[in-house]
Amino acid sequence: MYCNNCGSQIDDRAVVCPKCGASVQRNNLIKPVQSENTNTLAIVGFILSFIVSIAGLICSIMARKQCRETGERGMGLATAGMIISIIGIVGAFLVMFIYVIALAVML
Ligand SMILES: [Zn+2]
Repeated sequence: MYCNNCGSQIDDRAVVCPKCGASVQRNNLIKPVQSENTNTLAIVGFILSFIVSIAGLICSIMARKQCRETGERGMGLATAGMIISIIGIVGAFLVMFIYVIALAVML
């Protein structure tokens, strides 16, 4: 392949052009690039995890996938949102379970 910057022929596996030092662009290879932007879905998922657990969980899982693919920031936030959502769902089931047991004992 050829360098996009100086046009000299370079090794296919090269990441940086040995002639001019420019980083080689590979369009067919999806490589995570560190982005300054925080993934919006990660923020939404994190907030939702406190309000609607199921929606927060779905958003957080999707946000994690997007962060991996795009290299955006927010992986930690998405992971936190996912954990909080799971705790929320498990907690809700636990409360429901205790409520049913309490009802059964009283009857
Ligand atoms: Zn070059």
